[in-house]
Amino acid sequence: MIDQTVFNNKKAAYYTLGCKLNFAETSTIGKLLAEQGVRKVRPGEKADICVVNTCSVTELADKKCRQAIHRLVKQHPGAFVVVTGCYAQLKPGDVAKIKGVDVVLGAEQKGDLLQYLGDLHKHEEGEAFTTTTKDIRSFSPSCSRGDRTRFFLKVQDGCDYFCSYCTIPFARGRSRNGTIASMVKQAEEVAAGGGKEIVLTGVNIGDFGKSTGETFIDLIRALDEVEGIARYRISSIEPNLITDEAIDFVARSKRFAPHFHIPLQSGSDDVLKLMRRRYDTALFRHKIEKIKEIMPHAFIGVDVIVGTRGETDAYFEDARAFIESLDISQLHVFSYSERPGTQALKIDHVVDPKTKHARSQQLLDISDRKLHAFYEAHIGQKANVLFEQTRKGGMMHGFTENYIKVEIPYDHSLVNETRQVILEGWNEDKTALVVKIIE
Ligand code: SF4
Repeated sequence: MIDQTVFNNKKAAYYTLGCKLNFAETSTIGKLLAEQGVRKVRPGEKADICVVNTCSVTELADKKCRQAIHRLVKQHPGAFVVVTGCYAQLKPGDVAKIKGVDVVLGAEQKGDLLQYLGDLHKHEEGEAFTTTTKDIRSFSPSCSRGDRTRFFLKVQDGCDYFCSYCTIPFARGRSRNGTIASMVKQAEEVAAGGGKEIVLTGVNIGDFGKSTGETFIDLIRALDEVEGIARYRISSIEPNLITDEAIDFVARSKRFAPHFHIPLQSGSDDVLKLMRRRYDTALFRHKIEKIKEIMPHAFIGVDVIVGTRGETDAYFEDARAFIESLDISQLHVFSYSERPGTQALKIDHVVDPKTKHARSQQLLDISDRKLHAFYEAHIGQKANVLFEQTRKGGMMHGFTENYIKVEIPYDHSLVNETRQVILEGWNEDKTALVVKIIE
């Protein structure tokens, strides 16, 4: 039993690194603490509790986590510091050694946070303790309001794939999910609270249903029926798991946006084999062509990694040419980072940093061209925009269903509202399209 008085007048600071899933989970922790009366720290105030939700996708991510922890410990002297997330799960010993850290929680132990915080008084009395836990088998539901108008609904966690370069399955455990009924309930709660857009997140969301005997297509069919939600977006989904049936469904659904995010990782079949990915370039091309055939206006974002071990000049050239030939809208380019304990370390050919950088630049150039062409092709067309609350330089932003960023002078009455607009042309710095509202 927790002594509730330990939370009296307490303030918490939160810091999140990494993916949308982490942001969703930090938000759930924030809600949990808010229910106990712990409020979020205001700028300039000292926090009593610091929660750092970490990422471990690259070596750089690990470094940023350590820096963030040091920074928070310095900014909030004497605070009770809890570190959770993938880096905490993978390197609990390293995290525990950082001065000022009180508790290290495994990726799926965030729900136990209150139990640990129940010991806050011991901390205040100067007693030091660090707890490490490694249970990564359960599924903690989480749905959070993002900084913007959209909500992130975690539908799945963990991964069974073990790609040769990736540590996420070690950090997050095996694939698991909540039930369709529980997801629908959370979406209904979002709608009841006035939320309009939900992004489905997870580590490998196409694997949804493995632990409940359900399927991803049934999940999206059920969510599509929730009244009040204007839009859903499907975050990153593996190419071999986005079925043709699911693509057909999105095309005729009431609420799923024509917006896809599909990791390719390499456009060379040889490199895909080294990466132990579960598809080849022919399958990937088929998915892109299928989407574009029935939704020519669909936005397709694609993740790629450059400089993986084994990516020779010839393989990179294959990859570059393949990527160039795809009808996609944007690339998210990542530089390969060596991760201890991965199978990729057994591959001999190592790409030097200079070559990695040059390859990354080439792909970023392709991405810029493709994104520019995608926006350009929509100028003069009508679109539905959901406006967001951020205000910058007197302007507000929103996104069309197919993820084109638009800009308009700030008008508070438009926040979280959908309007039909005409996409008139580029803004000054060519980062968004300016629009005229027609309905
Ligand atoms: Fe990592 Fe591959 Fe699973 Fe993605 S699919 S989380 S890259 S192991």
